[in-house]
Amino acid sequence: MSLIVQKFGGTSVADCEKIRAAARKAVRAHQQGHQVVVVVSAMGKNTDQLIALAREVNPRPPAREMDMLLSTGEQVSVALMAMAVDAMGYEAVSLTGGQIGIFTDSSHTKARIRSISTDRLRQALDAGKIVIAAGFQGIDEDWNITTLGRGGSDTTAVALAAVLGADLCEIYTDVDGVYTTDPRILPEARQMVRISYDEMLELASLGAGVMHNRSIEFAKKFHVPIHVRSSLSDAEGTLIVEEPESRELPVCGAALTQNEARITLLGVPDVPGTSYEVFSRIADRKISVDMLVQNVGASGKADISFTVPLDELEAALETVHEAAEVVGADEVIYDGDVAKVSVVGLEMARQTGVADRMFQALADAGVNIQMITTSEIKISTLVDRDSALTALRAVHRAFQLERPPGDVGRAGAPTLEDAMAGRAASAADEVVSRLQDVVDMEQLTIDDVSLDETQARVTISGVPDRPGVAAQVFRRVAEAGVFVDMIVQSHHGERERTGLSFTVPRAALAESLEATEALAKELGFRGVSHSPAVAKLSVSGVGLRSHTSVGARMFGALADAGINVEMTNTSEVRVNMVVDGQLGRQGLAAVDRAFAPFRH
Ligand code: ADP
Ligand code: ASP
Ligand code: MG
Repeated sequence: MSLIVQKFGGTSVADCEKIRAAARKAVRAHQQGHQVVVVVSAMGKNTDQLIALAREVNPRPPAREMDMLLSTGEQVSVALMAMAVDAMGYEAVSLTGGQIGIFTDSSHTKARIRSISTDRLRQALDAGKIVIAAGFQGIDEDWNITTLGRGGSDTTAVALAAVLGADLCEIYTDVDGVYTTDPRILPEARQMVRISYDEMLELASLGAGVMHNRSIEFAKKFHVPIHVRSSLSDAEGTLIVEEPESRELPVCGAALTQNEARITLLGVPDVPGTSYEVFSRIADRKISVDMLVQNVGASGKADISFTVPLDELEAALETVHEAAEVVGADEVIYDGDVAKVSVVGLEMARQTGVADRMFQALADAGVNIQMITTSEIKISTLVDRDSALTALRAVHRAFQLERPPGDVGRAGAPTLEDAMAGRAASAADEVVSRLQDVVDMEQLTIDDVSLDETQARVTISGVPDRPGVAAQVFRRVAEAGVFVDMIVQSHHGERERTGLSFTVPRAALAESLEATEALAKELGFRGVSHSPAVAKLSVSGVGLRSHTSVGARMFGALADAGINVEMTNTSEVRVNMVVDGQLGRQGLAAVDRAFAPFRH
C-alpha cells in the first residue's frame, strides 16, 4: 500500500481554520487510498514566542530546558490536528517524538537523529489511522526531550518518510514551491519545476529557508522524493529529486544569508596544525563555519578568515580567542555587519566564465566583495549587510534566473508520478532494510576521498579593495580560455589587504599568469606568485558542512602528516584542500585513514 508523509509548517497551521484545511488534505490522501503520516510544526510564530519567553526569564537559558519548552509548541499542534481529523469522521492519533521513538543524540537545540522505531507508527497506520507526528523533536538515551534546530520539522518529515519507505514526502508551506531565490525578497524570483538534491542542499545551507538543509541530507541518502507545495492551494509545487531542472544553465538559484559574521585571525604562524587548533575547537561547539580563507603573508605568518552565523558570533569569538592564545596569533578581528550572497548550480562545474559573470554583476551594481569562496557547485561572496539586497538582485538578474530554462521538459525529465514510481521500484526496499542496521541515521557518510594532481595555483597579493577588481581578474582569465576551479579571496578588515588565489589546469598556468600579470601592472597589485603544481585533496559525501567536525578532521589529518594547507573550500557534498604538489599522495593516505570510519 502506498504511503505519503505530509508536513505542514507553522504558517500552515497558524489558526483553527488552517488546521482544518490541513486536516482536509490529510483526509483526502487517506480517501485516495494512501496511508498517511502528517508531521506538524508549532502554530504560527509560537516557537519564536517561546524563545522570547525563555530569554525573559534567563538571558542564557540551559539548553535542556529550552528543548523542554520548545517541544510544547508541536505538542499543541499535533493534538489539535488529530482533533480536526476526528471531527471529520476519520481516526487519527497524535504522537510526540518520544512516543514514536525518534532517538537523537544529546546536543540540545541542535540534536541529530540516530534512529527511529517504526513499530508504533506501523501499528497505527495498519489500523487505518492517520498518524499525526510532532515535528522538530526527539528524545535522547536518557529520555530527555531534544529538538533538531530551527526549521527541523522538515527533517522529521523526510526522516519518517525514509524509515517508512514512503512513496513521497509532501512539504506544505506558505509559498507555491522552491523559487530561484526567496520570492519574499525578490518578487521576480521564478518557481522551479524541479531541483536536484545537491542544489537544494547547497541552497538550503546558504540561506534558502524553505527547507531545513538536514532534511535534504536524508532525502539524498535514502532516495526520498519531495514535493514542496502550497498549503493554500492545490497548485503543482516543486519536486526535489536526483535530476536537476536544467542541464544547460550554469546557475539554478541564488541565496542570501543576511545575518553572517566574519572573524579573522591575523598573524598566525604558518605551520601545519594551526588551522586544526582553531577549527577543532569551533567544531566541538558545533558552530558551523563557512567561507574559510587562509592567506599566506610575508615572514612566515598567515591570516585566517572565516564566517559564522551572526547568532553564533559570540560563542565563536570566545573559542577563537582561546585558540589564538594557543597558536600565538597577533590579533583577532571581526565584523558582524556582513551578509553572504551565493549562486548554486550543478552545471557550473562544466562551464567557464560563471564566476566573472557574478563578480561583474556585483561590480556593475557598485557592490564591493569582501570575500569569495567557491566549490564545484556554488560561488559565495561576502558583502556589507547594507548592500546585500542590491547584490542578490544583481546576481539573480545576471544569470536571468527569472526566465525558465529551455530544457525543463526534456526527454527523460522525471514527473511526480515517475519520482513516486521510481521510489517504489528502486532501492527503496533495500534502503529501508539497510536502515534496520543503521545505528546512527544522520551519521556523516563519506563516499570518496580523492586526489587531483592536475592543477596549479595563482596568488595575487595586495589587491585594491574596491568593486570590480575580482571581475576584471576573472574576465581576463576567462578571455584567455582558462577554466578556473577554486577561487578564494580574503579581506582583512582594518588592514585593507586583500589576497586572491585560484587554481587552474597546470597546462594553462602560463596563459593565466600572463593575463594576471598584465592586469597587475594596470591595477597596481602588490605581487603575483604561483605554484606550478598543487595537489587538491577532496572528501565527498553527505552532511559535510552540517557535521562541523569534517574540516577539523581533515586539517588534523594533514597536520599530523606535517602537511600545510594552502587553500580550502567546502560545500554540503565536498570539502577540498590544496597542498603542495609534492605531498599529494602522502596527504591522500592521511586523509583516507582519517575518514575510514565513515566510509560506506
Ligand atoms: P514553514 O513554516 O512552512 O516551514 P518556512 O518559513 O520555514 O515555512 O519556509 C518558507 C519560506 O521560505 C517562504 O515563505 C520564503 O519566504 C522562504 N524562502 C527562502 N528561500 C526560498 C526559496 N528559494 N524558495 C521558496 N521560498 C523561500
Ligand atoms: N517549530 C520549529 C521552528 O519554528 C520547527 C519548524 O517549524 O520546523 O523552528
Ligand atoms: Mg520551515
